Amino acid sequence: MTDSLNKTVLISGASSGIGEATVRELAKAGARLFIGARRTDRLEALATELGGEVAWQALDVTDAASFTAFAAAAEARFGRIDALVNNAGIMPLSPLAALKQDEWNRMIDVNIRGVLNGIAAVLPRFVAQGGGHVVNVASIGAHLVVPSGAVYCATKYAVWAITEGLRQEHDEVRATIISPGVVATELGNDITDPAIASALKDWRQKSLTPDAIARAIRFALGQPDGVDVNEIIVRPTAAN
Ligand code: NDP
Repeated sequence: MTDSLNKTVLISGASSGIGEATVRELAKAGARLFIGARRTDRLEALATELGGEVAWQALDVTDAASFTAFAAAAEARFGRIDALVNNAGIMPLSPLAALKQDEWNRMIDVNIRGVLNGIAAVLPRFVAQGGGHVVNVASIGAHLVVPSGAVYCATKYAVWAITEGLRQEHDEVRATIISPGVVATELGNDITDPAIASALKDWRQKSLTPDAIARAIRFALGQPDGVDVNEIIVRPTAAN
């Protein structure tokens, strides 16, 4: 594997956390990047800082038309799309009994529909050009369920299933699941249950920094043609 990544990569949820770290990591590797999120001030600042081959556009992954326009703009800017990193996600954890149905629906919209909207925006291009790569950021919550995480984990199990289905259906398209353990980011800042918000602070005592996940994404994207890294699970351990 060479150090340089001669690819055009689209990244959702690039305004903070894992998405932002991935932009930095892939820019360092020489990739051409088209980055999206709703907080465009952050995208603009990041693109200005990194310069060169980083372009941005407002993206709401819950809106299929927004994702379609995002992919079209990326293609217009760089001529081709090689990969999509479906990274945007939210995690307003709560026990089912609290009946926070609005939060359930928002998680389903962003974490599942957002991933599907991203796939819909690039898959016809990948099929037509005979190749492409979809990297979906799931979670360790795609493998286990934590208390208060029934809906969040359900959305991540769904991301796992969708990615595996894509892999099975399309031999010409690479599909990768990235499943991080706890990472210190803004995820969960929207938790409305005070006890769970406080528990999250304890979980974050042992957490990864976002660059650890960015390196995993770069590893998957940097493989030669014909090699599909199906899943990478990255968990924190005691620093040494
Ligand atoms: P952050 O909260 O830091 O980042 C989430 C990103 O998603 C932001 O850039 C946000 O941008 C974007 N986003 C949210 N809603 C939308 C939307 N409707 N349209 C477009 N973008 C949206 O959290 P992380 O970096 O931690 O999260 C990234 C991914 O990693 C998520 O899928 C998360 O589930 C997953 N993950 C995180 C773990 C962790 O411990 N942090 C562990 C396992 C998985 P904006 O608000 O500007 O739109």
